[in-house]
Amino acid sequence: MTPERFEKLKRVLSQRQPTLTVLMEEVNKPHNFSAILRSCDAVGVWEAHAVPPKNGKLPTYNATSGSAEKWVRVQSHADAPSAVRELQGRGFQVLATHLSARSVDYRELDYTRPTCVLLGAEKWGVSEEAADAADANVVIPMLGMVQSLNVSVACATILFEAQRQRLAAGLYGQAPFPPDEFDRVLFEWAYP
Ligand code: SAM
Repeated sequence: MTPERFEKLKRVLSQRQPTLTVLMEEVNKPHNFSAILRSCDAVGVWEAHAVPPKNGKLPTYNATSGSAEKWVRVQSHADAPSAVRELQGRGFQVLATHLSARSVDYRELDYTRPTCVLLGAEKWGVSEEAADAADANVVIPMLGMVQSLNVSVACATILFEAQRQRLAAGLYGQAPFPPDEFDRVLFEWAYP
């Protein structure tokens, strides 16, 4: 471990955002799962959440992740509606990326609040039950011929709006964890 590498780990960890996360509902393609984790790492998501696809297993990572799985932990949940309620119970607003009568443009939301972005399966999207349980439904306006974006692209679009707002609000300058927890994680990252 070079001193430069250690400083980088410290800098990255100090910018983690425990109050920003995603919940993937049955995202099943390894390249999408991997790309989402990579975007999570880039904006400072500390822990992501996922409901495994019907086969019960979370997708494997592939080269698309850029090894982001080493830096972003993933918590598995049995089903999306209960995961939504659990995250709401922890103080997160859950924003379902879902087209419905109550959908709003994703840029209208305040991402400086504790926020979880709920992403749907490639084929079916977010389930109606999970979308109903969410605090808001958000969409990225589509002006082309194709109806939807790839799920990892939609994820990145929204997470980088969250990053923009959080940078402007100074949230990346705040200590994400108490000092003892920070030191423990830094040690785990440095000496896995
Ligand atoms: N047939 C699916 C449907 O009707 O929802 C399409 C799913 S889309 C390929 C996969 C996921 O990407 C969606 O569930 C959502 O999470 C995200 N997504 C794609 N395009 C989006 C958009 N324009 N706005 C918000 N989320 C979008």
